[in-house]
Amino acid sequence: MADHYEVLGVARDASADDIKRAYRRLARELHPDVNPGADAAERFKLVTHAYDVLSDPDQRRRYDMGGDQSPFGGAGGAAGFGGFSDIFETFFGGGAGGPRGGRPRSRRERGQDALVRVDLELGDVVFGTHRDLEVDTAVLCETCQGSCCQPGTSEVTCDICHGTGNIQRTVRSLLGNVVTTQPCATCQGHGTTIPYPCATCQGQGRVRARRTVSVDIPAGVETGLRLQLPGSGEVGPAGGPNGDLYLEITVAPHEIFSRDGDDLLATLEVSMPDAILGTSATIQALDGGVELEVRPGVQSGDVLTIKGRGITPLRGSQRGDLRVGVHVVTPTRLDHKERALIEEFAKRTKAPAPQLAQFHQGLFAKLRDRFRNA
Ligand code: ZN
Repeated sequence: MADHYEVLGVARDASADDIKRAYRRLARELHPDVNPGADAAERFKLVTHAYDVLSDPDQRRRYDMGGDQSPFGGAGGAAGFGGFSDIFETFFGGGAGGPRGGRPRSRRERGQDALVRVDLELGDVVFGTHRDLEVDTAVLCETCQGSCCQPGTSEVTCDICHGTGNIQRTVRSLLGNVVTTQPCATCQGHGTTIPYPCATCQGQGRVRARRTVSVDIPAGVETGLRLQLPGSGEVGPAGGPNGDLYLEITVAPHEIFSRDGDDLLATLEVSMPDAILGTSATIQALDGGVELEVRPGVQSGDVLTIKGRGITPLRGSQRGDLRVGVHVVTPTRLDHKERALIEEFAKRTKAPAPQLAQFHQGLFAKLRDRFRNA
């Protein structure tokens, strides 16, 4: 780095006034608004930095003793830009537009959240299930362990912003000169640069990889639900903390069972003779066989409730019920003998003529609506 006295063109024993005068002259000459060349901008930064150091008695003394080259480290930084407002009026004190910008921005940031879609069958929902999910996210770079540097090297203080992460710019306006602060383009506002970036991750501290995440999916989830796995998302830049992983659940429609809260719904088709005489049957629920008693004389629309054979709720342990709506199936094709038997039956029972009764909004209507709306 160039000698601060040489940069300002003053002797080593120059007085504070000499230094200030030299800086004013150079600043007017090299200021980016007057002299837009890149070379001038670089010299302007150097001049400003030299002035910042030499105008502060403490920093000047340390500099003379060959000490701290980075005047912005520690408490000295606060006074570092004092000289700036001596020359340029500042209308926006403090904050982003003030003469001192924010602190250097850490490379380490929290990683992004990741979203994975999980397709389940209704049967998975009854008790919950386990999934090994393939997730493509950024993971920590094994080579540099998130340091972003080749092993054995480390980041160094940025030469341009001297570790502040910010560059001052003075803009002329009708009100006078306004000092604005912008992130240093050389170090992207980090205050440090990486001379030897890790070759594995190109200095990002992380690489993209496919990994397997083992997840226990609780019972009772439903389509559209998002399960949050804290800390299982992407690792952040430079080994920053992981984001979260979200599982978005989709439960495929089942060809027989539908869901009403924690209850399962299905239809039981019963032949006409069975409906008349009653029967027993084993039906296959989602979690195995269920013995069902159909009482003699069961009617279409009757609902048989099998307690505790529904879905385990997401919160709680009391399983819902399996509700089965009876549908009596009327035979449609009879041979001569069968037809004769039914006619004989009708004669014997003196079956009444069709007659009106109150409209019955039964389970089937509800089921139909449900399917229609699905
Ligand atoms: Zn790396």
